[in-house]
Amino acid sequence: MDAELWEKCVSFHGHSCGGLMTGFKAAEYAAQLLGLKFSDDEETVCISENDACGVDAIQVVLGCTVGKGNLLFHLTGKQAYTFYERESGRGLRLLLRPRPDWVKKGESLEYMRCREPRELFEVMEPRIPLPEMARLFGNMRCAVCGEEAAGVFMSFENGQPVCRDCRRPYRRLDI
Ligand SMILES: [Zn+2]
Ligand SMILES: [Zn+2]
Repeated sequence: MDAELWEKCVSFHGHSCGGLMTGFKAAEYAAQLLGLKFSDDEETVCISENDACGVDAIQVVLGCTVGKGNLLFHLTGKQAYTFYERESGRGLRLLLRPRPDWVKKGESLEYMRCREPRELFEVMEPRIPLPEMARLFGNMRCAVCGEEAAGVFMSFENGQPVCRDCRRPYRRLDI
């Protein structure tokens, strides 16, 4: 385990915790299995199934960030992460194994720290295909509030673009 890199994760996240260690171990394991390096652009993609502490370590270790578009979410609330190396298309899903009963509350950080990644995670085939690279969409002006937003986020009412804040819910088809 790279202690210096761990310290970087702690300062980015704000505190040290078991959740952060989960993401750290997942990132290191994925890097090892797929031969990943820190991603300057969109070379490495992570699809996280939770929005908990561990995601912050993945951003620091692998450079998967929301802003670059190579950190995506499929929120099932599971401690699972899918990683892809875009160039080769190789990918895997890591699922955290259940914590043994003998690990007491408050001891998860220490438990996680001492384990080899293969003891912590089940490795499986990805369930979600590799997402396409981030595309640019031109802006449109909302017919209600007048603010501009990327076209892909707009709805249309009476042929006019309407932003997510202004659109009125239309639920009669949700049956
Ligand atoms: Zn935390
Ligand atoms: Zn609007």
